[in-house]
Amino acid sequence: MIERIAPVTPRIASVILKADLARHVSGQHLDVRLTAPDGYTAQRSYSIASAPGEPVELLVEKLDDGEVSPYFHDIAQAGDAIEVRGPLGGHFIWRAEDGGPVLLVAGGSGIAPLMAMVRDWARTAVDLPLMLVCSARTWDELACRDELLGLEASRTGFRFVAAITRGPVQRAGDRAQRLDAAALKELIVRWGHLPRHVLVCGSNRFVEGVTRGLADATLAAGMIRTERYGGAE
Ligand SMILES: Cc1cc2nc3c(=O)[nH]c(=O)nc-3n(C[C@H](O)[C@H](O)[C@H](O)COP(=O)(O)OP(=O)(O)OC[C@H]3O[C@@H](n4cnc5c(N)ncnc54)[C@H](O)[C@@H]3O)c2cc1C
Repeated sequence: MIERIAPVTPRIASVILKADLARHVSGQHLDVRLTAPDGYTAQRSYSIASAPGEPVELLVEKLDDGEVSPYFHDIAQAGDAIEVRGPLGGHFIWRAEDGGPVLLVAGGSGIAPLMAMVRDWARTAVDLPLMLVCSARTWDELACRDELLGLEASRTGFRFVAAITRGPVQRAGDRAQRLDAAALKELIVRWGHLPRHVLVCGSNRFVEGVTRGLADATLAAGMIRTERYGGAE
């Protein structure tokens, strides 16, 4: 059942579910199935953004011509029943005991599974260096921005970098550009840690570009895990 829906950016809604599911691992997703009155069904995957053990939160980006995502923005209400299956996925995951340093790179709603990892890290792995690089079109389109700024201010191991592609940056360490090899390399050098785990999530095009950039920045492909949400090939 949907417990609460609230906008977190102009295009991304937070959907809190009340569901009796097995405890998830950070990075896993749910399959959501909607059924119309005429029996037509549509199924899509949504990553779990909450830390393991917390109420399940999804971060759903609205695609105007989409079949399922507009439902969460325009129709769904608290109290509605939806069908979910999961948690699913065993590759794109990170647990505190996997260690670090950890580099997380998110494009748009690709922040969802990485938020689960950041929230998990915040509760369990205080000494591990973790950097989250989030790409969004504008500063206002950065999901969970205030939570991330608060975490950076209060925890020395955590670095948060915004890469803004269509607007000005607000802080000295942020980037006003797409994440190419030079930008990624510079961010890693400035961070001062060689990542042991790299997790990249977003649209197909975003994940392609970032993984190519990371390879050009001489990170071994074997340490990079990716989750692709679809969209432009
Ligand atoms: C493992 C996994 C986890 C996912 N987690 C999330 C999540 O946490 N939050 C989230 O918002 N989405 C997530 N997605 C994407 C989600 O499953 C849907 O694909 C997305 O919501 C679009 O569905 P739709 O029915 O609205 O659009 P559709 O009707 O499927 O597609 C409409 C149009 O949008 C294009 N499109 C589809 N996906 C994207 C995209 N990601 N970016 C740009 N264009 C696209 C299609 O090519 C099509 O032209 C995840 C996908 C996977 C595989």
